[in-house]
Amino acid sequence: MTERLVVVGGDAAGMTAAARARRRRVPDELEIVAFERGPFTSYSACGIPYFVGDLVTDIDELVARTPEEHRRNGIDVRTEHEVVGIDVDRRRVRVRDLLSAGGEERDEPFDQLVVATGAVPFRPDVPGIDADGIFGVQTLADGVAVRRAIDERAPNRAVIVGGGYIGLEMAEALVRRGLEVALIDLTEQPLAATLDADMGALVADALRAVGVTLHMGEPVDGFDTTDGGAVRAVRTARRMLPADVVVLGTGVRPETRLAEAAGIALGDTGGIVTDSRMETSVDGVWAAGDCVETIDLVTGRRGVVPLGTHANKQGRVVGINATGGDVRFPGVVGTAASKICAYEVARTGVTEREAARAGIDVVAATIEATSRAGYFPGAEPITVKVVAERPTGRIVGAQIVGEEGAGKRIDVLATAIWNRMHVDEVAGLDLSYAPPFAPVWDPVLVAARKAASML
Ligand SMILES: Cc1cc2nc3c(=O)[nH]c(=O)nc-3n(C[C@H](O)[C@H](O)[C@H](O)COP(=O)(O)OP(=O)(O)OC[C@H]3O[C@@H](n4cnc5c(N)ncnc54)[C@H](O)[C@@H]3O)c2cc1C
Repeated sequence: MTERLVVVGGDAAGMTAAARARRRRVPDELEIVAFERGPFTSYSACGIPYFVGDLVTDIDELVARTPEEHRRNGIDVRTEHEVVGIDVDRRRVRVRDLLSAGGEERDEPFDQLVVATGAVPFRPDVPGIDADGIFGVQTLADGVAVRRAIDERAPNRAVIVGGGYIGLEMAEALVRRGLEVALIDLTEQPLAATLDADMGALVADALRAVGVTLHMGEPVDGFDTTDGGAVRAVRTARRMLPADVVVLGTGVRPETRLAEAAGIALGDTGGIVTDSRMETSVDGVWAAGDCVETIDLVTGRRGVVPLGTHANKQGRVVGINATGGDVRFPGVVGTAASKICAYEVARTGVTEREAARAGIDVVAATIEATSRAGYFPGAEPITVKVVAERPTGRIVGAQIVGEEGAGKRIDVLATAIWNRMHVDEVAGLDLSYAPPFAPVWDPVLVAARKAASML
């Protein structure tokens, strides 16, 4: 008998699961149906800032696989169909057709279910938050809406609320589009949840250098609107910032409303709980991507780490396991990278601040070097910070800020953390050297050596 796999959410996690399942089972054995609320499938939300900033001009370039391509691959994709309920006992989902006049609903049965509903931008609960012109950014449709507002309304002033990496990438994009951009955050530095203060200060300088005005340590009190309901200013205790457009970079929360209503277990951090095979508390119901909790291999704690890299890997694990395989998602070490104005910014493991919160006693070594041999054209400053556990010397974190060629160096340190290496071992690694790529002592080795000497 043909089994039926239903996927809720048609982006990274959901469609990776569907495509992997399709490769393992022919349509006669397994029918695969994917429901997606929006018009796009398998898109790169990560590319939204580059689309808004006009580095990418064609939205199609951000779509890895269209609904039609998925259908040709034997996956029955139904876009603009929203799943509004999951009945795990009767093994069916309730689906609303968003294109039908009355929003028709019907039940769709499943044998296996994949919940890949992603995340939703966090919207601070302040007056005026629902005004026209205030955008959260998560799906490609959100990106299209922001770009349309810039193209059609030709705004002059933008305020970014929240200095996480999405807020900063969007700030840079809007500067590229010629807007006057201000950034407000309640913390004292940009990327406060990602970097330690000393490294975040470098990023703040890079933002100021392109003309972004920073207002740090200022919570937003509310938004003022025009008579027509459009945003016109952002209010804090200290100032009123005029704004024709506002982008929220205040983080995301896992989209778990469906799962919660269905009785699927959520964890303390708000994400769906799964085992390492990505199966939820309900047999044959799987979850992957921004909506799930995962384990941090450095601290041993569970958390929600909403990144595309994990969504794709977890989706693959689900696609294999939901079709009878047995693979695991091992967890994460908190590696992330972003390009903010002149700088490539990257981190892995824990920051000094996160180490303190997790009760890990650490030393931290920061060094400045160059990305290439000092004499080689294009050599640029690079700052590397390595965090090591005391007294063991195990490397538990690293941060890098620098120009071209800096960011991907974090992968060496991520690999070292993954393998529980000690800083003196990292300092002795056989890393490549030639003047166009690195000084003879790569900055990674120098930082690790300094950390080792401090232990
Ligand atoms: C601006 C931006 C930049 C980013 N940059 C990076 C980066 O550089 N590196 C990185 O690793 N990650 C990055 N990310 C994060 C990455 O995009 C996400 O982690 C990834 O998209 C998560 O994939 P997902 O499938 O879990 O969720 P999503 O991509 O959010 O997809 C979930 C889908 O489910 C659909 N859906 C939700 N509920 C329902 C329902 N009830 N019925 C039907 N459909 C539903 C939604 O419409 C959505 O399309 C970025 C994100 C943004 C917004």
